[in-house]
Amino acid sequence: MSDTTATYQQLQLHIVKPGCPICALCEAAVETYLDTLLWESSTDFNLHNMLNASLGFCGRHSRQLLTFGGQRLAAAVIERASLLAATRRLPEIATASEGLPSGWGRIRQLWASSKVPLVQSTLSPYVAPCPACVRQSAEEVRGLEMLLKHLDEFAAPLQKAGGLCLPHFNQITYLANATQRATLLRIQQQVWDDLAQHLEEFIRKQMDHHHKDPISEPGRLALERTIAALTGEFPVRVR
Ligand SMILES: [Zn+2]
Ligand SMILES: [Zn+2]
Repeated sequence: MSDTTATYQQLQLHIVKPGCPICALCEAAVETYLDTLLWESSTDFNLHNMLNASLGFCGRHSRQLLTFGGQRLAAAVIERASLLAATRRLPEIATASEGLPSGWGRIRQLWASSKVPLVQSTLSPYVAPCPACVRQSAEEVRGLEMLLKHLDEFAAPLQKAGGLCLPHFNQITYLANATQRATLLRIQQQVWDDLAQHLEEFIRKQMDHHHKDPISEPGRLALERTIAALTGEFPVRVR
């Protein structure tokens, strides 16, 4: 089926490689986004407005800024803007809890309603989400919709790639119809059964130091692949 959208073409590229293709799609989008921001950091007025609203990037994306070789000065400019914005808003953050139920009940309530990590949800509800996370979410939705739209074509390469990570499998089930859900479930069960066997092999051969057969390639990679399968791919590279 011909589809000329950028998301479709990107998905075609990523799905033939091992690992969750939606994670790969998001990583590429966020990397381009952060790289552009770093280059334009000192001049982009919108960026500074954004940082004023979000008080910087989340933990993951702030650290990712440091992986772009030669861009530490630009990262420092971004972090300075974030720190100054956060300092200005400290009095507001200190009093944001006034009028809300107290203690852990309030924290649990905030966490349940915002679906973001506790460390972020306990910030003032007036703090905007991390701009890179917002970019990532938009790409996620586009990628998941595209995967479903072309599931007939993508089913076989998805199985070969090792299926989706658990967070993206969970998300796609909200968008899929019953037939698509059945296809995705079959793929996911198959690839995780295989992964469990590779992890078994890894454990068996680690326990038996005198085993004669060398470990297979999937067995050698099984521990890292399992972590990626359950939590998503986080290949933040240091260049
Ligand atoms: Zn994923
Ligand atoms: Zn983020």
